[in-house]
Amino acid sequence: MKNLLIYVKQLEKKPWVFSETLDKGIVETGAGLPFLTEDILVSGTAELIGKTLLVRCAIKTAYSITCARCLETIEKEFSTDRFLVNIEIVNQDIIDLTGYIREDIILGLPAVSLCKKNCKGLCPLCGTNLNKSSCSCMESGEKSDRWSKLDDLDIK
Ligand SMILES: [Zn+2]
Ligand SMILES: [Zn+2]
Repeated sequence: MKNLLIYVKQLEKKPWVFSETLDKGIVETGAGLPFLTEDILVSGTAELIGKTLLVRCAIKTAYSITCARCLETIEKEFSTDRFLVNIEIVNQDIIDLTGYIREDIILGLPAVSLCKKNCKGLCPLCGTNLNKSSCSCMESGEKSDRWSKLDDLDIK
């Protein structure tokens, strides 16, 4: 489904316990940013307390992001069981929760990520993925100090 709608009138009788799947297309991110790879499972309860709609739910989906060091694609899970929203109801019969859920996911996606803690990244000289193989660029000179060679140059 593309929208998660709450019918306020129905909540006057009893809370709504839901478990729905939202189309992953509701969350659009820009080029180069992480994007969703699975539809979004939302499950929780919506209840009316006085004039306030209170929604508590869990959100679960998955996303793809590029490792900031080696540029490999990483697939990760997104999940929270703490989505919470309070909405004051003023003469509304239907509340669309889609925007709130979209915002929660977008804010929860990391800006940068690593494929693993000690990702070795790419060789800055030849571009080899140092997690997968090695190159000889760094072998000469002092370890990985690629600027050390500059010290030997006679720069004035
Ligand atoms: Zn990496
Ligand atoms: Zn190299």
